[in-house]
Amino acid sequence: MCGGRRSPKLLATKRTQLNTDARRRLFDHTPDTLRAFLTDLDEPEYRADQILEWVYRRGARGFDQMTNLPKALRQRLAERLYLYESQIVQCARAGDGVTRFLLRWADGETAECVSIPADDRRTACISTQVGCPVGCVFCASGIDGVRRDLSAGQIVEQAMVVAHQAEDDTRLSNIVFMGMGEPLVNYDATIRAVRTINAAWGVNIGARKITISTIGLPKQMRRLAHEDLQVTLALSLHAPTDELRRELIPWAKGVTIAQLVEAARYYFDRTGREVTLEYVLLADVNDRPEHARQLADLARRMRCNVNLILYNPVEGFPYKRPGEASAHAFLHHLRARGTNAHLRSSRGLDVDGACGQLRRRE
Ligand code: SAH
Ligand code: SF4
Repeated sequence: MCGGRRSPKLLATKRTQLNTDARRRLFDHTPDTLRAFLTDLDEPEYRADQILEWVYRRGARGFDQMTNLPKALRQRLAERLYLYESQIVQCARAGDGVTRFLLRWADGETAECVSIPADDRRTACISTQVGCPVGCVFCASGIDGVRRDLSAGQIVEQAMVVAHQAEDDTRLSNIVFMGMGEPLVNYDATIRAVRTINAAWGVNIGARKITISTIGLPKQMRRLAHEDLQVTLALSLHAPTDELRRELIPWAKGVTIAQLVEAARYYFDRTGREVTLEYVLLADVNDRPEHARQLADLARRMRCNVNLILYNPVEGFPYKRPGEASAHAFLHHLRARGTNAHLRSSRGLDVDGACGQLRRRE
């Protein structure tokens, strides 16, 4: 069962004001900014710790649940801050337990997040932008470009929505930035969200359990290496040659694979964290044996492991998912050349498995 948790309510009309005023969202706050916010209200600073405890440890969904806060303060907070800003406007659960949510923000824009359960764990796949500016030719998220960035709090809120969805004992254990949008284009909000997700006072998920997936912005990849975060970096390569890569990712025409190799090496050298190469297998486009050979050479040079993803077909696009046999042959070619490679099982297929599709339908 999903949905019905919060009923849609009237959308706010002051679009830009709500977008830009991050202080209006609890999830945009750090302990320091929340203390300053409370001081402005002539409240003692320790209330900030109480509020964060309620939100992140005790699962409060509204200020009215924070029973050790004076009633008047709860009311003032509710008037000034969103706790959960979003409404779940669609929710689709697949037979394998994967659940996709379409969230609508106060300005009417929407973004997707996904809950992926596995044994006693749960991964949240979250978005960083409404739409995507990159427009890879096979991806539903970038079809209409980007509408706007999400704030750090809106990114954190998605993780919390997924955390609350557990109907069993599966704890939120992993976060992947693999929803809509390009995280390194919305760099500052993404990093702030990672810090809150990682913080002991926040969602409290280990940095190594957090994966940032990027289409590859060399400068920002280097910058990320200096953030003092032990997050996993996944680079969406999808093609072993510049020519083919530019066909699939026209936006990448100014970036060469050689530059990406250098940036990934830099990330590895500086953080000691092995970069993952992501490679969406598109039938008869990038899944031939020579592609596997070229990819294995690259992975060796970059000291990367490879994650193969079976393409989830998107309505209206010409690309097809390769058969299991040819995907396994590709995997075998990589492994035969000493590459540490995995074929990611595709899940949630019966509910528009490709990110961006729920929003598009809506
Ligand atoms: N913009 C970032 C993160 C979001 S996309 C990036 O591109 O890395 C996350 C991953 O999903 C990427 O590797 C992307 O190529 C992949 N993806 C996008 N559309 C897909 C589809 N229809 N089927 C399978 N994987 C897809
Ligand atoms: Fe954007 Fe990533 Fe989709 Fe490319 S694959 S359009 S970068 S979300």
